[in-house]
Amino acid sequence: MTTREYKQQLLHELYAPYQKCTQCPLGFLGRTNVVFGEGDPDASLMFIGEAPGAQEDKQGQPFVGRSGKLLTATLQKLGISRGDIFISNVVKCRPPENRKPLPLESKTCKNLLLLNQIKIIRPKVICALGATAVEGLLEKTYPMTKIRGTKMVYESSILIPTYHPAYILRNRSAFNDFFQDLQQAVTCAEKK
Ligand code: URA
Repeated sequence: MTTREYKQQLLHELYAPYQKCTQCPLGFLGRTNVVFGEGDPDASLMFIGEAPGAQEDKQGQPFVGRSGKLLTATLQKLGISRGDIFISNVVKCRPPENRKPLPLESKTCKNLLLLNQIKIIRPKVICALGATAVEGLLEKTYPMTKIRGTKMVYESSILIPTYHPAYILRNRSAFNDFFQDLQQAVTCAEKK
């Protein structure tokens, strides 16, 4: 069995008991799918967003709506396809009306799923998409304009925060910064 196959099996075993998770309130608030995440289980680059939106909840896949399309297209410009990376969210269930996840929801989901995903995948670089994702990971609030593109350390990975693609859809002038941060994350993940 290859490392990739082994990690895939571990991810499958991690997800299996949580396919109908009720460990936090979001399990009772109308979600359709627990959106575990997808991509290369042995990826050196992992993207982490906030929580699934309507489209993601419906399809059971992360970042497949409008912001996901922008993220996928931007990565393509950098020569990266969705299959080269792993994409997930701090919170795996859609919050009602796309509200921000509550601290209890983020903490519960992070401890049960995200931290274990990171331990299995062991990505060299984690790119956190948006201030809420950063807050979920670090349990502290930072202004995105200050920390974007700055290398930090998280769980033995290099953490690079950037804007959420939904923000870029509303603020096109921030696209160049977003592109640069993704470029930095890609370059950093490719280094031996
Ligand atoms: N926004 C997120 O934070 N995550 C998704 O999966 C989709 C939109």
